[in-house]
Amino acid sequence: GEALAVSARVAPLGSRLVLLLVEDLTEARRIEAVRRDFVANVSHELKTPVGALSLLSEAVMDAADDPEAVERFAGRMQIEATRLTNLVQELIDLSRVQNDDPLEDAEPVRVDELVTEAIDRCRHQAGTKQITMAAGGTADLHIWGNRGQLAAALGNLVENAVNYSPARTRVGIAARRVNAPGGDLIEIAVTDQGIGISDKDKERIFERFYRVDPARSRATGGTGLGLAIVKHVAASHGGEVTVWSSEGQGSTFTLRLPEAGAARDRGPQTTAER
Ligand code: ADP
Repeated sequence: GEALAVSARVAPLGSRLVLLLVEDLTEARRIEAVRRDFVANVSHELKTPVGALSLLSEAVMDAADDPEAVERFAGRMQIEATRLTNLVQELIDLSRVQNDDPLEDAEPVRVDELVTEAIDRCRHQAGTKQITMAAGGTADLHIWGNRGQLAAALGNLVENAVNYSPARTRVGIAARRVNAPGGDLIEIAVTDQGIGISDKDKERIFERFYRVDPARSRATGGTGLGLAIVKHVAASHGGEVTVWSSEGQGSTFTLRLPEAGAARDRGPQTTAER
């Protein structure tokens, strides 16, 4: 209806313009549908922990004279509250990486610091599963970008590697400089010996809220937003993230990001020196 009304009005201007307008409307509809899906997904994801909290609080009230039951229900309330907090935090992170231009306050970011930070973030979780984490090649490498966003991206990859791996396995982080036509890149590869990802799922894991196994992902506190954040950060830095995986053997997620070159490193000083 809308499209036809518009095309009738502009018909005299020529069919090419009409076609462009119709295409525009189709694209606008597609974006609108994606937005609607997203809101529906968020609502659903929020409803689950909120519903559980509501039921559990009733259970606590009913069990007032049974201290052991109260403690058990309170423990589960804590888990649901953490889940809710994680989800809200990841939604804030996602909206930030989607809306902010990360290069506005870009600086040379040390790769060894990013890697240490990511490992520290997962140390507890890795410890309880006796997963060893090892990093190499990070010395003297710098990425040109937004420190907070880069830390979030690498942190998510390392966290996933730990979460989707069985006990007593190894997570490796390897960094190196790679020559590329448009300027050197820094490559950071996160390798695990975990459950792996099928070819079919590989195409979808970077979508918001996509999880291969929702139950397993929820058990680890996963929100399904982590890889969407990683993909956004990589793209807005002019880089990319790719995945290699073999089911049952493990996965490697590789980030390729622009190196902080000498000229960019020195930025403001260059003008002062001139
Ligand atoms: P989640 O919060 O569920 O971990 P992500 O967006 O980070 O969400 O990842 C999406 C899905 O991709 C996960 O639910 C999981 O099924 C799969 N996945 C991510 N990283 C790995 C990995 N290293 N090994 C196996 N599966 C993974």
